[in-house]
Amino acid sequence: PLTLKAAEKLEESDPSAAALGYKHDTADVDAGQYPRHSADQMCKNCQLYQHVDGDWGNCGIFPAKQVNVKGWCNAWVKKAG
Ligand code: SF4
Repeated sequence: PLTLKAAEKLEESDPSAAALGYKHDTADVDAGQYPRHSADQMCKNCQLYQHVDGDWGNCGIFPAKQVNVKGWCNAWVKKAG
């Protein structure tokens, strides 16, 4: 099957990541800044996450980078189904 494998891991300091409060670990998200966040929300249960392998996968928001399965950003949307 054709798999789009993003080459690089997203850095938390990347301006596009920082703008959405992305963290590799959902536990590190700033609760004061993102009150709608909860610790059970993470990339692996986000509608925009596409698993690649190990702890990393692709995300529709950050097209050329990989995000962590336990990560989170403010664009999190509950995975359907
Ligand atoms: Fe993770 Fe979803 Fe944010 Fe992408 S949109 S970084 S998969 S929480």
